[in-house]
Amino acid sequence: MSAMELYAESLTNYKRLATLEVKVGDLLLGNFNPIRIQTMTTTDTMDTIATVEQSIRCIESGAELVRITAPSKKEAENLLNIKNELRKRGYATPLVADIHFTPNAAEIAARIVEKVRVNPGNYVDKKKFELIEYSDADYHEEIERVRNRFTPLVKICKEYGTAMRIGTNHGSLSDRIMSRYGDTAIGMVESAMEFLRIAESENYYNIVLSMKSSNPQVMVEAYRLLIQNMQEELGHCYPLHLGVTEAGDGEDGRIKSAIGIGTLLEDGIGDTIRVSLTEDPEFEIPVCKNIVKRYNNINSAALPAIQKSSLSVLTKKERRHSFEVLNIGEKHVPVVIADFSKMEKIVPGDLSCIGYRYDESLDKWNISDMAADYIFGGNTKIHFALPGTLRVINYYAAWQQAKDKEKHLPLLTEEEYLDGNLTKSSIANFVKLDCYSEDYPAFDIKNLFNKLKKDNTAVVCLSSANINAMQSIRRMFIELEENNIKNPVIITVDSNWQTTDEHLIHFATEAGGLLLDGFGDGICLGMTKKSYEQLAGSYAQMNASGRNHISNSTIEQFINNTSFGILQATRTRISKTEYISCPSCGRTLFDLQETTAKIRAVTNHLKGVKIAIMGCIVNGPGEMADADFGYVGSGPGKITLYKGKEVIKRSVPEDIAVEELINLLKENNAWVEPALVHA
Ligand code: SF4
Repeated sequence: MSAMELYAESLTNYKRLATLEVKVGDLLLGNFNPIRIQTMTTTDTMDTIATVEQSIRCIESGAELVRITAPSKKEAENLLNIKNELRKRGYATPLVADIHFTPNAAEIAARIVEKVRVNPGNYVDKKKFELIEYSDADYHEEIERVRNRFTPLVKICKEYGTAMRIGTNHGSLSDRIMSRYGDTAIGMVESAMEFLRIAESENYYNIVLSMKSSNPQVMVEAYRLLIQNMQEELGHCYPLHLGVTEAGDGEDGRIKSAIGIGTLLEDGIGDTIRVSLTEDPEFEIPVCKNIVKRYNNINSAALPAIQKSSLSVLTKKERRHSFEVLNIGEKHVPVVIADFSKMEKIVPGDLSCIGYRYDESLDKWNISDMAADYIFGGNTKIHFALPGTLRVINYYAAWQQAKDKEKHLPLLTEEEYLDGNLTKSSIANFVKLDCYSEDYPAFDIKNLFNKLKKDNTAVVCLSSANINAMQSIRRMFIELEENNIKNPVIITVDSNWQTTDEHLIHFATEAGGLLLDGFGDGICLGMTKKSYEQLAGSYAQMNASGRNHISNSTIEQFINNTSFGILQATRTRISKTEYISCPSCGRTLFDLQETTAKIRAVTNHLKGVKIAIMGCIVNGPGEMADADFGYVGSGPGKITLYKGKEVIKRSVPEDIAVEELINLLKENNAWVEPALVHA
C-alpha cells in the first residue's frame, strides 16, 4: 500500500492516484493512462441509425468511450447492430451498456459491448423506499441474494473480456443500504464495496468505480471515502470515473461539474470523466476537454508537507471558524467581490452587471439576490454615491486619495501592512498574501501572523500563482489554522485562460474546491490583463453569434454570475433556484431541454427551491436526490409530480404539467409571484 495522505497520493504536490489498469476494448484506463473522456447517447437505443450517428458526433468531438442505455433485453440485443454499424463506418471506439434494474439485459450486453455499467442500488434490488430493520443474519442473507444474482454477470464479463463500471448514485441506493447507512457518502461507498467484494471473489478485476451525486459536496466526499476504503480493505484502488449527476445545463451545469470533477482532479484523483449536461451529448465533450487539459504536464510547486496532526483541518465537516470584519466571516455567507480593476472609469450604469440597477425616476437602486458585496477597483476610483452596503476596495495609494473612507477600503501588500508608518483603515484592511510563490519566504511571515492575530480589521486575501494554486491556498489555510489565525479570508483566483468556458472551469475548480472543504469567507475572481483584453475583444462577437452558452453582456457580469453560481453549487450561499435535471438518454419520455427551459423560465425567481426534472420514472425518482419538487416523465405524454420522494400528482398530461407544477408549489407555500420578486 502506498503512503497516502488521507485520500490522495499527495495533498501538496500534483500526483495521480495509482490505480489498477483496466482494459475497455483496446482502450487502457487507470494506472496513469491519460484521463479518458466519455459521454452517453440520448437517442432511442432501438433506433440504430440515430444512435450510431449521435455516437459518431460524440466520437468526432473527442469521446473515447460512448455509453448507450439498455433498459431491457431488446435494447441490449440491438447494441450488436449499433456496434456493427459503427465498426462498418470505421469507428472502433468502445461502447458501454448502461443498465438499471435488468440483470437479463446486462448479461446480453456484456457479450456484445466492451463495458457494462451497473448500478448497485438497483441491479438486484427493487427500490420501494422502505425503511426496514435488518438483523445481521437478514443482512447477510440479502448479500447472498445479491451474490447469486450478480455473479453470472461477473462470469460473463470475465469470459468475454468485458469491463464493468460499478456506478453508485446518491439517491438511488438500495433500501438495504439506506436502512443501515442512510443516504450518505458512506452508504454509497458500502454499496459499491458489496459488489466489489463479490467480483474479487471471482478473481475479476476489470472494474471502474463511480460515486455520483448532483451535490458536488456529497460526490467529493464519497470518492475520497471510497479511496480510503479500497486502500484499507483491498490494498489497491480501482480506476475512478468522475461525474456530477443531473448537473443541469448552461453555466450552472458546467460550474457544478467543474467543481465536483475538478476538486478531485486537482489532487490527482480520477481516470475518466463524464460531464452530464442537459444538452446534446457532443456538447459535453469540449467541457471535458477543458477540464482535463489543465492536468497535462503539470510541474507543480513543492509546498511544505502537512504534519499528520494538522490533517484534521481537512476532515472536519464544518466551515472554518473566523471572526467578523464588517459583513465578512463568522456566520455571514461568503461575500462576492466584483473585480472592476480593469475598467478605466466606473459609472453608475456599470453596476447593473453586478446586480444593482438604478431607477432614475424613483431615484433608487434595485438590488438583486445576486448583487456583489464589494467592488475591487484597483487604482480606479468611484465618484458617485454607492448603493446600500456596497463598498469599494482600492490599492493603498488610490485609497489614500479617496475622500469617503467609510465606503473605500484599502488592499495592502504584506510589506505595506507590516509598515508601521502607513496609516490604515479603522474599518477594514484587506491584506494580500500570495501562497508559497517563489519569493514567499522573503518576507517575515511570523511577524505578519502576529500582527494579523491582533488585528480585528484585517481580512486576508489568499491567492497563488502556482500551477497547483488550489493545493497552495489550501496549504495556507492549514498554516493559518496551525497559527491560530482566525481572520476572515477571501479566496482570490486569477485566470490566465482564454475562453469563457476555460475561465469558468478555472474559477469553479479552484474556488469551488476550497469552499467544498469549508474554507473561505468570500471570493474574488478575476483575470490577468492579457486574458481580460483577449476576452473583451471576442466577447461581443461570441454573444452575437449565439454560440456562447453564457448569456452575459460583459465580462464583469460573467464573473459575477460565475461567483454566485459557485457559491450556490457549493451550497455556501443560496441566491437562486436550483435545478437538478438529468442529461436524458434513450429512456427519456419528453423533450428534456425544452421542458427544462420552460420550467426555468417560470420558476427561476424562487430562490432556494430545488426542482428536479427527470426524463423517466425508472431512475428519475431515485436520482433526483434531495430535490424539493420533482417533474418526472412517467409515460408517453404523461408526467408525475413529486414533493420530495412522495408522489403528489400522477399521470398529469404533459401540456398542463408545468401549470400543475406551479399549483403544487403554491399548495406548498413555495411559490412567490414573479412580480413581487422583481418589483
Ligand atoms: S433519469 Fe434521465 S438519464 Fe436517467 S435513465 Fe431516466 S431518462 Fe435516462
